[in-house]
Amino acid sequence: MKTSTLREYAKLIAVKGVNVQKGQEVWITAQLDQPKFVEMLVKECYAAGAKRVSVDWQHDPLTVLHSKYMTQSAMNELPNWQVEKMKYQAEILPARIYLDSEDPDGLKYAKQDKIAQEKIAKYPIRKPYIDSMDNKYQWCIAAVAGKEWAKKVFPNERVSSAVEKLWEAILYTSRADSTPIQNWERHNKDLHSKCDRLNSLGLKYLEYKSSNGTDLRVELLENAQFLAGSEKTLQGVEFNPNIPSEEVFTTPKAGAAEGVVYSTKPLSYQGALIENFHIEFKNGKVAKVYAEKNQQLLQQMISMDEGAKMLGECALVPQNSPINNSGILFYNTLFDENASCHLALGRGFSNCIKDYGKYTQKDFDEMGVNNSMIHVDFMLGCDDLDIVGITKSGKRIQIFRNGNWAF
Ligand code: ZN
Repeated sequence: MKTSTLREYAKLIAVKGVNVQKGQEVWITAQLDQPKFVEMLVKECYAAGAKRVSVDWQHDPLTVLHSKYMTQSAMNELPNWQVEKMKYQAEILPARIYLDSEDPDGLKYAKQDKIAQEKIAKYPIRKPYIDSMDNKYQWCIAAVAGKEWAKKVFPNERVSSAVEKLWEAILYTSRADSTPIQNWERHNKDLHSKCDRLNSLGLKYLEYKSSNGTDLRVELLENAQFLAGSEKTLQGVEFNPNIPSEEVFTTPKAGAAEGVVYSTKPLSYQGALIENFHIEFKNGKVAKVYAEKNQQLLQQMISMDEGAKMLGECALVPQNSPINNSGILFYNTLFDENASCHLALGRGFSNCIKDYGKYTQKDFDEMGVNNSMIHVDFMLGCDDLDIVGITKSGKRIQIFRNGNWAF
């Protein structure tokens, strides 16, 4: 990919993605195989006025080794220096950038049980910091073409051409192949007008139906709104949490979903793929799961905590979107979730609540914003998906017809 195009993309992430403020710190999480792009991004962050840019490097093979050789109790410990780091971040609120380039199968040989236990053990220590930072800093997830990822998406290509093709796909679907900043200004306008329309309807339920067996009713929260595209921190700084982003989403009422939902794309969870699965909800919680591949991992996912069995997101994405039209299965949630209507199990979004700055975490819990250590999207969009919205007075309004917006 041309360096000038990548520079523009890095600038998009720094300026529109996290919208680095003068004098703000920036924290980047990236895979070890992306030194060149990270260098470009760091430069753009400084150009935007960053005070200090820190990078946390990750390397899946090391995660695999740690999970193999460390004892469970060592894994479960959170050393003091890591707690201090979290404390520091909670205090100074750096902008956070997460660069996705990892191999979708990169953690296939990791000890998934041990990693799940580790997450459960550390969560109570991390939670107060996570809660205290909620909605107070800008963050952005964006993608970079990694070699293993590219080979997974384009298995018949040589490595170099697979990487080039993945770059093309990332930049096209991220609306970053030319004039990215202008594209995103226009795109945000479109998305915000969709939200306004939905928010004016006063919906109480969404009903999903498709011929593959999906038949699900989800209750919405009375004071929750649909959001899309750019968001604002409590301090009023605008940022784009996902590049790409096609979804219009809200946080549903936790523990108020009934019926069954069939996934339409594989789910990448902790470096492994869960395939051809469906989930049954009873009394608002997952009652049963079935997966052709990696059922046990899915079972483990919904057992992480109480919130993992309840919904935390309803997202509407038309089948007619750049990602879906590209015809590429990315094996990466950032892309696949933006190709298709999806739901998420786990943590909900408190910033969907009207005037969310007025409430505490406890208020959100009581309102029915789901709380969990996980937030995992899974796709249910397909060409004959119908979604009907039901208002408080029982009026039925067609929201999606045959996989696309009905209005
Ligand atoms: Zn989503």
